[in-house]
Amino acid sequence: MEMFDYLIVGAGYAGSVLAERLARGSGKKVLIVDRRPHIAGNAYDHFDDAGLLVHKYGPHIFHTNSKEVFDYLTRFTEWRQYQHQVLAFVDGQLVPIPINLDTINKLYGLNLNSFEMDQFLASRAEKVEKVRTSEDVVVSKVGRELYEKFFRGYTRKQWGLDPSELDSQVTARVPTRTNRDSRYFTDSYQSMPKFGFTRMFANMLDHPNIKVMLNTDYREIKDVIPYRELIFSGPVDEYFDYQYGKLPYRCLEFKHETLNQALYQPVAVINYPNDYTFTRVTEFKHLTGQEHAKTSIVYEFSRADGDPYYPIPRPENAELYKKYQTLAEQTPNVHFVGRLATYRYYNMDQVVAQALTLYSHICGCNRAEAMAMKTEPRVTTITFPATLVHSNGNGNGNGNGHHSNGKGNGNGNGNGNGNGHGVRLANGNGNGSCRTRNRRKSKVAIPDRDH
Ligand code: FAD
Ligand code: UDP
Repeated sequence: MEMFDYLIVGAGYAGSVLAERLARGSGKKVLIVDRRPHIAGNAYDHFDDAGLLVHKYGPHIFHTNSKEVFDYLTRFTEWRQYQHQVLAFVDGQLVPIPINLDTINKLYGLNLNSFEMDQFLASRAEKVEKVRTSEDVVVSKVGRELYEKFFRGYTRKQWGLDPSELDSQVTARVPTRTNRDSRYFTDSYQSMPKFGFTRMFANMLDHPNIKVMLNTDYREIKDVIPYRELIFSGPVDEYFDYQYGKLPYRCLEFKHETLNQALYQPVAVINYPNDYTFTRVTEFKHLTGQEHAKTSIVYEFSRADGDPYYPIPRPENAELYKKYQTLAEQTPNVHFVGRLATYRYYNMDQVVAQALTLYSHICGCNRAEAMAMKTEPRVTTITFPATLVHSNGNGNGNGNGHHSNGKGNGNGNGNGNGNGHGVRLANGNGNGSCRTRNRRKSKVAIPDRDH
């Protein structure tokens, strides 16, 4: 049986960047395995029943200040310029969040200028000796009333904890502004992959040295398939069989809906800090720019149990993670990377950067060498939403073979089932389906219908 240099667990950013670099940059043979039926991890997007491009695991907006990360991803996608905007439903009104001049003027019926808003906030801000918690961050900037209106309820819903129980880094992600800038992020690079995240990942993994196996927990194959080293991007406590106890992760439930109207809300995301049981509602067309007579939205509900989505930043969890980190460091030939494996509340760009750093350690080269292409990627460009294959085919992907050896001896027979808009490379998405270069048709298990 073929010996892989690396078995990579997880086909999200962490796993896919490493697979791409090891294969294209160092000529290594890589098997990447994911227990989900698709690549792209939490960034996975696909066309739903109505033909609308949606993010299965909630809204993902790419933003970064790192030119290196942006340039790296640009090898695999074109971009659509997008500036993210969010409104919060507070006191019966929709107002900008992050809190800015318009938020305050609208909420209090005022007509302040920036200077006056500074004074307004200063008169309300509470003095906090040492900012430690997520409550401290906010009350020290805007005072208790705005904290209650915008942050306390949302945070309690999202994390199941009071902001006073969470590290400052959580609410510190959301700034306060005294100008009228209504953008959620102000990073130098902000954009969405023109043909979706999944397509970008498909391009990243499109290399003869990379085999992809989906619907497979790595534990099912780790003793069967020979490999030299392991790269793990799943939950670190799970890897070590919870020997120090479970690391808390916050879980989410997503309720997707398609509405028979062209547009539902004025911006991509509306936050509901104090009303309803969901935290926010996202309308994808704002993110994708897709034109369509219908629109698809998703409600997010936060849960204590389920798949892990968010590491929970608080001191006792950091302590517990340290124990696992020590174990991880003592485990030879296994590398831990990504949001779940390093227990960090990281954005996509931070995970890409972390993966590139790990790659440069593994290959023993400097950053510039680590970024070198070595072999050119083959980017497939498809005009969105043209070509419109618009297949309503319902062929059931029933490939149940193990990963193939590159000569196509897997059993992937699936025909894909979905209303793809011509960006689907996949013709099969069955159990244990596997991607190989020689079996291009069953290669990329993307846009399968999930809802
Ligand atoms: P993941 O994407 O979680 O990938 C890990 C993969 O490992 C998963 O696919 C999982 O199935 C697989 N896996 C785990 N265990 C096993 C196993 N035993 N065997 C096989 N496979 C396994 N970031 C931004 O920059 N902008 C945003 O707007 C943004 N929005 C977000 C919204 C939500 C609701 C969430 C949850 C996150 C958001 N993020 C955002 C963060 C972003 O999703 C992460 O930073 C990024 O996806 C992490 O990549 P990863 O590879 O570390 O992990
Ligand atoms: N937050 C809040 N109210 C809001 C927006 C954010 O209280 O309207 C807090 C909340 O605790 C949230 C954190 O700030 O979890 C970070 O917000 P962000 O939008 O970055 O969350 P993510 O997109 O990672 O879920």
